[in-house]
This record gives sequence, structure tokens and C-alpha cells, in this order.
Amino acid sequence: MQDLLPKSGAAQLRALALQSAAIAQDCNCRAADSSGWISLPLSLPESQLTDVATLVADPYDEPAFTEYHPDGTRYESPDAPIAPRHYPYNRCNIARCTLCGRHYLRYMEAGGYFVDRRIRALDRQYLVTDAA
Ligand SMILES: [Zn+2]
Repeated sequence: MQDLLPKSGAAQLRALALQSAAIAQDCNCRAADSSGWISLPLSLPESQLTDVATLVADPYDEPAFTEYHPDGTRYESPDAPIAPRHYPYNRCNIARCTLCGRHYLRYMEAGGYFVDRRIRALDRQYLVTDAA
């Protein structure tokens, strides 16, 4: 499924983040604070999101688990950089809310007996597209 989605480059990612920032309309996708990573909240039905692109570089390759936190943030920090080549962004799809048009990053965290659907708002403020 992921290989059917267009791969998102830095320019597209910035464009989508910019689009999202311009949306003023209130929406239930904003009911839960997803400025940092959260589990997909009950207030946001998965059917309301549609994938528009992917950050997965190669669907046949296991993406790296290296995180990018030059300023001492953590995985769940609301101000953690969104660095597409780092964990967990390198396994994310970019999804659009079908009601308001805002964009989100999402991926599935698979544990032994559970699958956790994680989501974070695509905020241009934290986008770091040149982190190698
Ligand atoms: Zn929405």
C-alpha cells in the first residue's frame, strides 16, 4: 500500500505544512492535542484521514531507528524536530483530514501483541528537512 503513495520530498512537505498552517476552520481533528506524538484519539476516526504521500524512502528496507534531537527534545516532545529521514518520520505517511484539509504524520507502532496508531500534526515550525 505504501508503495502506491507518492514519496514526499522536502519541498512538498513544506508546501503541505504551509497549507495546513493557513487553515483557520475549526475541526474535530484538533480536539486532541497532537503537537507531539499521540495515539490516534477516539475523537479522530481513522476514516477521516486520507494518505496523500509517504516519507518511506524504500518500502523493502527497514528504516533506521535513529532519532534527531539536536536541542535535547525527546520523541514525544511537542517541539521535537520533524526530520523526515529520522525515526519515526522515516516510516510515516502524510495524511490529510478530509473535513478541514490539515495534514498529519502517522505511522503504526507495532508491539508484540498490539498495534498503536500514532499521529502528529505536520507543523511547519518544527520541520527540519535538511537533517541528514
Ligand atoms: Zn480536520
